[in-house]
Amino acid sequence: MKKKVIIIGSGIAGLALSVRLKSKGYDVEVFEKNKNVGGKLSDFYLNNFRHDFGPKLFTMPNLIEDIFEDARVDIKKYFKYDKLDIACKYFWDDGHIFNGYSDSQKFINEVHKKFDKEGNKVEEYIFNSKKKFNLVKKIFLEKSLHKISTYLSFDALKGILNFLQLNIFISLNSLNKRYFKDDKLIQLFNRFATYNGSSPYLTSGIMSIIQHLEHDLGVFMPKKGISDISHSLYNLATDLGVKFHFNSEIDKILIKHKSAVGVSINKINYKADIIVSNMDINLTYDRLLKGYKKPFFIKNYQPSSSAVVFYWNMNKSFSNISVHNIIFSRDQMKEFDYIFNRNSIYDDPTVYICSTSKIVKEDAPSGCENWFILINSPFDSGQNWKKIKKNLRNNIIKKINSTLKVDIESNIIGEKILTPVDIENETLSKFGSLYGSSSNSLQSAFIRHPNFSKNINNLYFCGGSVHPGGGIPLCLNSAKIVSDLIN
Ligand SMILES: Cc1cc2nc3c(=O)[nH]c(=O)nc-3n(C[C@H](O)[C@H](O)[C@H](O)COP(=O)(O)OP(=O)(O)OC[C@H]3O[C@@H](n4cnc5c(N)ncnc54)[C@H](O)[C@@H]3O)c2cc1C
Repeated sequence: MKKKVIIIGSGIAGLALSVRLKSKGYDVEVFEKNKNVGGKLSDFYLNNFRHDFGPKLFTMPNLIEDIFEDARVDIKKYFKYDKLDIACKYFWDDGHIFNGYSDSQKFINEVHKKFDKEGNKVEEYIFNSKKKFNLVKKIFLEKSLHKISTYLSFDALKGILNFLQLNIFISLNSLNKRYFKDDKLIQLFNRFATYNGSSPYLTSGIMSIIQHLEHDLGVFMPKKGISDISHSLYNLATDLGVKFHFNSEIDKILIKHKSAVGVSINKINYKADIIVSNMDINLTYDRLLKGYKKPFFIKNYQPSSSAVVFYWNMNKSFSNISVHNIIFSRDQMKEFDYIFNRNSIYDDPTVYICSTSKIVKEDAPSGCENWFILINSPFDSGQNWKKIKKNLRNNIIKKINSTLKVDIESNIIGEKILTPVDIENETLSKFGSLYGSSSNSLQSAFIRHPNFSKNINNLYFCGGSVHPGGGIPLCLNSAKIVSDLIN
């Protein structure tokens, strides 16, 4: 008889896993507390403008291709995407502009053009970033770190022999300063620490591998917007026969003789042979495994940063911005000091602006744009978000106006604002952290909760708060790791 698997949550990892396990012949059911799929990777309409709830940056589409390939289904029937020419356009308020191309040679040429004398160093940086990525991917990103078998391979040996080249024991900022002299270029390369919710002054130099993903392998955009990743995996899962239950918040994992045997909602039990939680690992312990001991490092973890997001419906289009844009803070060190030490947001924060309607025309009415403004923020620890939101709105409007030479206030015809508290409530991520735990210490970049329970049989974990980490590519890898662990 086919084994039955219940997955708690339909975030990107839960969706990917549902397809993977169904393709392997398991009987799969997914329980989702919300009325729709995707978790942080979902979307909504604000009047007639479509907005993606969370992620905007899409790299490594090969990981999605792999899921369809393993299911022996032609991806083109479900999911299409294009490569962006410019991964991100960067602005400084002294008028300096840099196009971060999605192709390494074009990126290097732009550095030669805009940052005189740094071009050769960038070439070396990108080359080393690729080398580091290839060394860690097989052992760290694609396998469970908590199984002996992971270390008994040629790839593991290669990784261990080249350990010192990975720049694990140096901060990202110190590494970048070794390569570059120009403060603006250091600021640009430092920003990649935020991709796992960390500070460049604290997180490990291994994070420099992100440079390879973005400016070498490239940045992509699905034809129907970023949430189409969730929609297409959901469509594939339902076509394969995965059963979804919406508005269904699991409140307990049922355990018998040290094995997970089912889940329950309001005392109604659903039995299964295997349970996988795609819920934030901390809340899985707090709410679904009451009475079971939390591992030490989960109890003492530092949550990753969160965000305040402004979704704006704009009544005109702006020719001087690209799909992804960054307007940098004048003082990056202060900005991160506010986020990680003062639990607040600096008055002059880095402003990220994304407008998917520049290429997904259906996302906004003709001549208009959907803007997503993200400001990195501390996780929720009871701050006065109403006050922070108000100050922040004024500060970012001033900053956008002066840098882009616009007057945007009058162009905003619809608005929704998201704080860390909303992120916690809507996706059940503890303290509203975007990426589970932060990687703000050299070892924490690697130490996350395993993808399986060491004490309870048949219980597994996938998603951004467990190994290998947060962000779309790593969540997809966590699904693959769990699928490989379940035999
Ligand atoms: C504003 C923002 C911007 C981001 N930007 C990027 C980006 O540009 N690029 C990138 O790669 N990543 C980005 N991220 C991070 C990325 O979105 C996440 O790492 C990833 O989507 C997390 O997926 P997940 O599988 O862990 O599940 P989640 O998206 O956290 O979803 C978990 C799901 O489980 C459900 N659930 C929880 N508990 C229960 C329960 N008890 N019963 C039933 N259902 C339950 C929730 O409702 C939710 O749907 C961003 C995130 C946010 C919020």
